[in-house]
Amino acid sequence: MKIGIVGSGFVGSTAAYAMVMNGVGREIILIDQDHLRAESEADDIFHAVPFAHPLEIRSGDYPDLAGCRIVIIAAGSNQKEGETRLQLLGRNAAIFRQIIPQILTHAPQTLLLVATNPVDVMTHLTARFAAEFGVPSHRVIGSGTTLDTARFRALLGRHVGVDSRHVHGYVLGEHGDSEVLTWSLATIAGIPLDEFCETRDLKMDDQVRHDIDHAVRNAAYHIISGKKATYYGIGSALARIVDVILHDQRAIMTVCTPRADIVGVKNVTVALPHLLGGDGVIETFEPPLSQGELEKLHQSASLIRRIIDDLDQEGKHS
Ligand code: NAD
Repeated sequence: MKIGIVGSGFVGSTAAYAMVMNGVGREIILIDQDHLRAESEADDIFHAVPFAHPLEIRSGDYPDLAGCRIVIIAAGSNQKEGETRLQLLGRNAAIFRQIIPQILTHAPQTLLLVATNPVDVMTHLTARFAAEFGVPSHRVIGSGTTLDTARFRALLGRHVGVDSRHVHGYVLGEHGDSEVLTWSLATIAGIPLDEFCETRDLKMDDQVRHDIDHAVRNAAYHIISGKKATYYGIGSALARIVDVILHDQRAIMTVCTPRADIVGVKNVTVALPHLLGGDGVIETFEPPLSQGELEKLHQSASLIRRIIDDLDQEGKHS
């Protein structure tokens, strides 16, 4: 159960740390263009092993990825303060054009798990580059809105006083400004959120929804303004996705993978609930949304499709 991580900055190394803390996998290889960074992160995390789980962790180069079940890709530039995720695209697309072939040359059987932003577009590009090596799209997964869904559930859980692991709700669409909080699907103990709150005298009016929506949608901007990067949430999310795949757990997660059609938008990649197992995406669900949520999801998917079209027109990343 060998896992590779390409890009050992805040996100990549925190994912490795979360895997060591949770006992996910057996061996982790950290790769970075900054070799010293990868080596230092690997050494530092390795020293946590006696307090956690028996994993091997070391830095390496692409040939060391041979035999990996999953390679996480978190290489790229970090989102700068005030910069949208979409502005990162040009810089990160060029990096992926280089690294995907190197990964698949040495680990042709691996699943690819993309975290680099803008993650929906980067996952779409990864699937395209990986297809040149015969990798089917269900083996290319982006973290999508896994983190946003966690933020939504965490805030709802705090508001209603229930462990967020027992609060169900999804953020769908782009991992970014156009994402859709699907309030109509939120349930606790099988009870629709509104009903749950009403019968317990818990406030759930437009103001509460607005505040939670704002906190979820702007979480990255807020955290980056205070500490320059976000990594604990996404690192934990990536470790969880890896665990699901390694143990064929058939979990439902709001990851993204290329789809022929999402609410009428063709050939696009944005997050929906997916059934995940040992060979990647098993099934994709389009849950019954309210009309307003459907329209927002359509807008979100259309936005990502337009960005992919713009890139293709430039002809730089096809
Ligand atoms: P970081 O700058 O700390 O790390 C990025 C690493 O990539 C650096 O160590 C850099 O040396 C390395 N790198 C750059 N080009 C490379 C190449 N060609 N080959 C190998 N390594 C290369 O940034 P970070 O905070 O770790 O963020 C990484 C990415 O994850 C960013 O795109 C960020 O926006 C994204 N991110 C995604 C989510 C999510 O929910 N998907 C959440 C937070 C951050």
